[in-house]
Amino acid sequence: MKLDVNVLRYLSKDEFRVLTAVEMGMKNHEIVPAELIDRIAGLKTGGAYKNIRTLLRHKLVHHDSTKYDGYRLTNLGYDFLAIKTMVNRGLIVGVGRQIGVGKESDIFEVVAEDGQTLALKLHRLGRTSFRAVKSKRDYLKHRSSFNWLYLSRLAALKEFAFMKALHEHGFPTPKAVDWNRHCVLMTLVPGYPLVQVKELKNPALVFDTVISLIVRLAEHGLIHCDFNEFNLLIDDDEKVTMIDFPQMVSISHRNAESYFDRDVDCIYKFFLKRFNYVPGGNARTLQGIDNNVDEDDTRPDFVNLARTAGALDKELAASGFTHQNQEDLDQ
Ligand code: ADP
Ligand code: MG
Repeated sequence: MKLDVNVLRYLSKDEFRVLTAVEMGMKNHEIVPAELIDRIAGLKTGGAYKNIRTLLRHKLVHHDSTKYDGYRLTNLGYDFLAIKTMVNRGLIVGVGRQIGVGKESDIFEVVAEDGQTLALKLHRLGRTSFRAVKSKRDYLKHRSSFNWLYLSRLAALKEFAFMKALHEHGFPTPKAVDWNRHCVLMTLVPGYPLVQVKELKNPALVFDTVISLIVRLAEHGLIHCDFNEFNLLIDDDEKVTMIDFPQMVSISHRNAESYFDRDVDCIYKFFLKRFNYVPGGNARTLQGIDNNVDEDDTRPDFVNLARTAGALDKELAASGFTHQNQEDLDQ
């Protein structure tokens, strides 16, 4: 995806006002009637129509006349609103190249006012399933607020809250700088995903570091739930940073044990496949025992874990991200 933010500079105040009006209209309309946009924008001269044409030309809104004449915000339109807010807050001055495409996000390098490069993650929930959601809209009739704007915003809020709390508790995560709408601004990690690494100087050390992260998270009351070679970044000194938190759950979650085991499994399997590494492998060979992963008694076991380090899950439930928000995301 190309994010040409130069257009941002050329949009007039009125055009932004109309774009914001479309966003507001989307709180209870999938397609916002043109007349409503005009009313919300409340422009004194000329009305909203001329401005809508400019927004259409830049693909910030999409025209839909299947049922009535109306418009909806595009991904790009939502991106612009969030980026503009970040710029107005004095946090960023420019958007650079795209550094990541996740399942449900786009990540860009951005430049802060002091020249530092940061990372901006734009959440895109329902990117692939939006059409399917739309066709099932009868089931969702009473939940008109469950659109991609709302869900992407929830994901960003959750990610920001978790990243901030984890970082404050000494976990190796990017530092969360700020968030708005579906965007999270964070420090840029000087490294690359573990999935791109062909060889490690010290696989045992990296393995132990990574497994103890899963354990320490659980001791704080949390499970990552997507803990794998794509969400672990590693630098030239083999220092590990974990990322990607929107799917984290509490250890009190009904499926906690299977999520925990799956996270541990991913790491065991990846290290075996990529680095031919089995924890304690040498020791056991010396004792004449098979290199069987199942017999590894150092493997962390969910039932033996204790919540020794605190209750981050509960702290977070008390943050801006509510229990109801989580239920909406789960749906
Ligand atoms: P998704 O939820 O879509 O998987 P991620 O948060 O995992 O999104 O980010 C996708 C990719 O973007 C990562 O695999 C990584 O390569 C890159 N990335 C994300 N955040 C950062 C960051 N703070 N610094 C450097 N690279 C990042
Ligand atoms: Mg990821």
